[in-house]
Amino acid sequence: METKREFLKKMGLLAIGAVAGSQGMTTRATNSVWSMPAAQKNIGLQIYSLGRELTEDVPNGLKKIRQIGYNTIELAGYRDRKMGNIDIKEYRKMADDAGLKITGSHVNPPARKYTRDNMAEIAGFWKEAVEDHVQFGVKTLVQPSMPSIENHEDVAIVCEVFNKAGEIARSAGIKWGYHNHHMEFQRVVKEEDKNKRSNPWMPVGDVIYDLMLNGTDPKLVFFEMDVYWTVMGQNDPLEYFEKYAGRFPVLHIKDRSILGRSGMMNFENIFNKAYQNGLDEFYVELENIREGVSQFEGVKLCYDYLSQAPFVK
Ligand code: MG
Repeated sequence: METKREFLKKMGLLAIGAVAGSQGMTTRATNSVWSMPAAQKNIGLQIYSLGRELTEDVPNGLKKIRQIGYNTIELAGYRDRKMGNIDIKEYRKMADDAGLKITGSHVNPPARKYTRDNMAEIAGFWKEAVEDHVQFGVKTLVQPSMPSIENHEDVAIVCEVFNKAGEIARSAGIKWGYHNHHMEFQRVVKEEDKNKRSNPWMPVGDVIYDLMLNGTDPKLVFFEMDVYWTVMGQNDPLEYFEKYAGRFPVLHIKDRSILGRSGMMNFENIFNKAYQNGLDEFYVELENIREGVSQFEGVKLCYDYLSQAPFVK
């Protein structure tokens, strides 16, 4: 990234500023260079944030998303080889017409419990989902919900299923990832440790999220960290970025409600560290709106927060 100074120099604006300064022009005039509108940032939206306000009128809703300033979207609602009740090609065209790029999609396989018996069936599901998502033109396909996990054996099977899904997606040029909530920060305990006493400073067992990170192939599975749910799971996103550098190319940027208002999310630290570790894409997510505004208004306030935040590139 070039600095603002380098950019201005290239544009010849720094020289003008210098001359203006020497001719005794007011600082205000020189400052006008700095108040030029900033280049548009790449800010994505997880469309689940809009709920019915979008699904009631998809073509116009997508246009409204673009008008707010978002340029990419991550889908939610793919099932039975359609987006809601809309044909894939048709949905893609609506997004194209709105000037939005569909870069990602959240998809859950029908099975909640993974076993040796249904692994092949789940792989079959991902084959179809990948085929369909090639038509959407996505870069990433993400599973947003945790399968049923009670012990280490369950995690091992889940990791195997994830690796397989990643392999299927990769063969079509799509990256496959997993999105967390707070449950992934619970622990599973081995049989021999079941009687050990656990306390907050010396917990017994292994954190499911860490087992997933360690049990999946980084070439096949990435992790779309939802930073809010990580904090709700009583963990620090930065510690994970540090410990598993490169595994989090995509983030869900979420707060308790409208971004930046709860005071519980240090987005500046999160973005700084995420960029260092190769952040490629992020999506705003807004749930549980509490401000008495519409979802669209809330989604706009989230956009404004990020577009004005100096730490978002
Ligand atoms: Mg999320």
